[in-house]
Amino acid sequence: MLQSGMPTHDKNETFLSQFGKSGETTEFFSPVPDNYQHGKTKFVVVLGTVMSGLGKGIFSSSLAKLLQDKGLSVTPVKLEGYLNIDSGTLNPFRHGEVFVLDDGTETDMDLGTYERILDQNLSRANFTTAGQIYTEILTRERAGGYLGRDVQMIPHVTGEVKRRLRQLAIEGGQNGKQADVVFVEVGGTVGDYENGFYIEALRELAYEEGPESTCFVALTYIVEPAILGEQKSKPAQLGIKRLMETGIQPHIIACRAELPITDTVAQKISMFSNVTPQRVFSMHDRDSIYTIPDAMRSEKIDREILSILKLHDRVDAVAEDKARVGWRNYIDALTGKRNHTISIGILGKYTSIRDAYASIDKAIEHASTHLSADVQIKWIDVTDLKKDTAGSKLEAANLDAVIVPGGFGERGIEGKLAAVKWAREHGIPFLGICLGFQMAVVEFAQTVVGLEDANSTEFDVNCKHPVIAELPDQKEIEGLGGTMRLGGQDVALTEGSFAEQLFNAAHVRERFRHRYEVEPKYIEKLTKAGLIFSGHHPEHQIMQVLELPSSMHPYFVAGQFHPELTSRPLNPQPMFMGLVAAAIAHRTGEKTPDGVDARWLCSNISTSTV
Ligand code: GLN
Repeated sequence: MLQSGMPTHDKNETFLSQFGKSGETTEFFSPVPDNYQHGKTKFVVVLGTVMSGLGKGIFSSSLAKLLQDKGLSVTPVKLEGYLNIDSGTLNPFRHGEVFVLDDGTETDMDLGTYERILDQNLSRANFTTAGQIYTEILTRERAGGYLGRDVQMIPHVTGEVKRRLRQLAIEGGQNGKQADVVFVEVGGTVGDYENGFYIEALRELAYEEGPESTCFVALTYIVEPAILGEQKSKPAQLGIKRLMETGIQPHIIACRAELPITDTVAQKISMFSNVTPQRVFSMHDRDSIYTIPDAMRSEKIDREILSILKLHDRVDAVAEDKARVGWRNYIDALTGKRNHTISIGILGKYTSIRDAYASIDKAIEHASTHLSADVQIKWIDVTDLKKDTAGSKLEAANLDAVIVPGGFGERGIEGKLAAVKWAREHGIPFLGICLGFQMAVVEFAQTVVGLEDANSTEFDVNCKHPVIAELPDQKEIEGLGGTMRLGGQDVALTEGSFAEQLFNAAHVRERFRHRYEVEPKYIEKLTKAGLIFSGHHPEHQIMQVLELPSSMHPYFVAGQFHPELTSRPLNPQPMFMGLVAAAIAHRTGEKTPDGVDARWLCSNISTSTV
């Protein structure tokens, strides 16, 4: 409630400018970027209650998609409570895969969900950690940026959060315009100590931006204990109450649950939270996350948001119809009957945790949906594979294709090499990713070229033939010193190569995250023996794609980058399309007149069912 003498929203511009002041004269401290257009950007804030792991990112990105489809320019941000600066050093066992953005930012897997669902490249500005905020503030404090004031959680830390959100609004919109809607996902659960300052900052933001500027969505969970056999709303009520204690009144409540929530539950939630029943939604489990936007739309969540934020005037109905048709076709293919059945083995170290390979899983899903294949993924732990016995184990798994994914460190290397060898010698379609690419080079050097002691210097610095090595000269060229080569880079594809045929382009952009590369002095030996480097850095001797000719293998392709990171539902990544096509050919034994089965199928992958 505003009290007399406090700023009012009557003249919004003046109102906001009062918060921008700093120094001794005011308690308000909310640095507003100069070119920020007040009122243009609305904020949708998604907060989790009861417990984490409810799919806040999926929910928030699906919501963002609904508004994007209506022609609005949207940009998401994930606010993480941890003190790490980025996700680069987090263990995939604990936190899922590291998702690398085009600008080289190492983020968590939720950013992958946003990129895939919105089909939009994100940047550093879309990912904030408490570590980044504190570092910024402490650096500014040392540089004398706070004019003799004591630096405090409120207003300085919360002020930095608000500044970033407004800056994102300016930068994150499409076509150089300020975004219509910023979707803010707060990590963790309301009540977590470490995320409290984000929630306070968002409360302040809503106050400063004024009425109809911010829509708070509480994602909650309805339990249904087997012992009771009915849904219970108490934990959800307590979670929402906890949110209201922070001074935030949610506008929408989305109830995660195994089954659709009952009217009784919806009414109870409504009653205890001051949210009308038509704004309490059931978000029960679905087979695929890609069906969620449509499910939300049929429940009319999008319309409620438009009303809450007064966004009706900005909707482009024609754009929406068009966007929906494309998505609908994909969902139909995804949920419909498939023409083929194949199995793909993923040979990694973190196979017990699917999240560690989330993007690979998704990239396979995109490609197999387009090619109407039902894929059974077999997660095979490479640490269990020994040189002599790997072949029989893999044989028994009945695989139509093999993926050797990226990784760091020596553990599991023997198994990865054995898997590459088996796939190469048995004509099993193979896709090598990053470390998988390097292992393909090492295995080829050892077995085909006959350099028995070939290895990567990552695993044996003193090996006789370091076919994969850290190359300091090239690191300097890239301007990255001794650190990792990270983010989007251009790849030039060799004219007439299979890779060029797959991508149907001479240049592509893919995402990298590695330190080691093919040592140039071995390139001649390797290529003489049949290995083809069909993609490389546009100017330097950095090998980025390899393949075997059709005379040696039906589908043996690898990339020094991570192709899984650029795959999108409506735009599947070509190397995965090729792999799935080749796996279908392997299963059906389909042959073309010249006997080049997988390649023929790959060149016909435009027969996509979507
Ligand atoms: N460990 C290898 C390198 O640093 C591969 C990295 C990866 O697979 N992402 O080059």
